[in-house]
Amino acid sequence: MDTEFRQANEKDVASFEKPDRSKLFRNVIVVTCMDPRVNPYDQLGLKTGQAITIRNAGGSAKEALRSIIVAQHFIGADGEIAVFHHTDCGMSRTTTDEVRHIVKKANPGRDDIAATVDAIEFHHITDIEGSVKSDVKYLAENPLLLQGTKVSGWVYDVETGEISQVAEAVAAESTVGTQA
Ligand SMILES: [Zn+2]
Repeated sequence: MDTEFRQANEKDVASFEKPDRSKLFRNVIVVTCMDPRVNPYDQLGLKTGQAITIRNAGGSAKEALRSIIVAQHFIGADGEIAVFHHTDCGMSRTTTDEVRHIVKKANPGRDDIAATVDAIEFHHITDIEGSVKSDVKYLAENPLLLQGTKVSGWVYDVETGEISQVAEAVAAESTVGTQA
């Protein structure tokens, strides 16, 4: 990849304009899958500097929480959080037990690795809409989020390229009380 990356980068540098986030930022955090068919910039009409995108296997909000906290408090991203899961996601075909089994099989006799992977939740998706709704609920009820944060949940269809919204919530003041 080194030659391809360098050549592409040279082209990009030739027309590079340093993004001014203070002018461009649309105050949105997009949580989505790492699947190469998913490209939130192209598919949601976003440009560099306009959004924070957090990607992982499945677009898990639980795994994204660490980055969301940093984005809200250190990048000033106190606007909407949009969670996207997509059809035909690999995480709907792979269970947590299967991933753990494969890693253990690749490392026979390594109890330390077995213990480490057993402690990782891989967030298997059984029902795409259900998993989006569950992640939106998880964020809206999470006391670590800025209260009043709008959280929306979406499904991206890899067959048609269409998005559809399936959930919306606001991180409620009442959830703060659970910490007291
Ligand atoms: Zn996926």
